[in-house]
Amino acid sequence: MAQRCAIVGGGLAGLAGYAALRYHGVPAEDIAVFGVEQDPAGPLRRRSAAICQRYMRSESDGHCRPASFPGLAVRSARSSRSLAPLVRSACNRYRPTVEEFFADVDDVRARSGWDRSFRRARLERIEATDDGFRIDALGTYRHVLVAPGHPGIAVPEEYAGDGRAVHAYLPHGYGDRVAVVGAGMAAAMEWLNALSAGAAVISVRRREPQRRPLSVPRPLFSRRGLAAYHATAPAERVRLLEQLAEPSYPHGTAWDEPISAATRAGRFRTAAGPDGADQVICATGFLRGFRHDDLLRRLVDDHDLAAERGWVVLSPDGTVPGLTDGRRTLALAGVPAQWAFPGADTVAGAKYVGRRFARRVRQCPTP
Ligand SMILES: Cc1cc2nc3c(=O)[nH]c(=O)nc-3n(C[C@H](O)[C@H](O)[C@H](O)COP(=O)(O)OP(=O)(O)OC[C@H]3O[C@@H](n4cnc5c(N)ncnc54)[C@H](O)[C@@H]3O)c2cc1C
Repeated sequence: MAQRCAIVGGGLAGLAGYAALRYHGVPAEDIAVFGVEQDPAGPLRRRSAAICQRYMRSESDGHCRPASFPGLAVRSARSSRSLAPLVRSACNRYRPTVEEFFADVDDVRARSGWDRSFRRARLERIEATDDGFRIDALGTYRHVLVAPGHPGIAVPEEYAGDGRAVHAYLPHGYGDRVAVVGAGMAAAMEWLNALSAGAAVISVRRREPQRRPLSVPRPLFSRRGLAAYHATAPAERVRLLEQLAEPSYPHGTAWDEPISAATRAGRFRTAAGPDGADQVICATGFLRGFRHDDLLRRLVDDHDLAAERGWVVLSPDGTVPGLTDGRRTLALAGVPAQWAFPGADTVAGAKYVGRRFARRVRQCPTP
């Protein structure tokens, strides 16, 4: 007989889904979380440390808890006994520190019972059965949330064998002459990191960076904006998702002033290649598309699922059409859920699918 729930992938999207299930009354014993590391913040801890991230890109609601209120600004106001976080939040200027965010993740992990449900396993295959989904030889589950994160870091071919090259999301220091490849948020952070480490910086870019406050515009997090998004034809949706994936970083003097000063001092320039650099930092993000992820590729191919370019076609709630009905649920969360929610690769986006998944589980008549 099928067991009740499984979460595949033990990262932050998995934790957001888990916390939502627990909030909707699903006992920890009825949920198996399959992942390769027990700390749900492990991947983000390593990546944000590599680029010396101090503040989250997300705002007060960028947390993994099942209810939006109280957000991180309220928690910060309480612990610091200051209204300042609330005032900043009201003007959309509040950014939690990375420490505050990870402390909150640790709290959600401890309170939710995550460790009781966690099973260490890297999964290979999910197969639909009459009453649910068989997960390798580990059991059959009626409701499965698949949250494997990005399928790997992207290193441009020309730097793959270059001994000077390191990816921005892997641990590294800074050389004397550092070339930073890329034009997004990670690249912008690495320009500043390398400059403050005393390096001269060459920004290697194919095009001028776009300046946007968030990689996914705020309306696409709203009910109305999402309804319009869900009404788009597939080709238009692909175009929009490709546009959103283009590198960008926010406006602001915190970025511009150090770059202008370093340019005047001859320590920052743009170039088509990393000539003369003793280190090449590839701030080139992640591989894109489900085909790079063995588990998702097999899932799509084995079940002949609809896909558009690199995206698995999903219903607006993140579930896989054809494999989801009144008795069983298969949903994707995190970056593979962008077809349902363009901001899926954010903590707020992870909650979007997690909460809808939990509601379906609660409403399912089969216990
Ligand atoms: C440097 C950086 C800074 C960021 N800052 C912010 C921010 O400030 N605010 C924000 O909202 N978002 C931010 N993000 C985005 C954030 O990373 C994502 O929202 C979140 O970490 C994604 O969580 P995830 O669970 O989808 O993926 P991950 O955190 O990568 O977790 C996926 C997990 O699943 C496991 N897994 C994969 N395949 C399998 C398998 N087959 N079997 C078992 N386990 C598997 C992986 O090993 C991993 O442990 C940032 C991202 C980066 C890289």
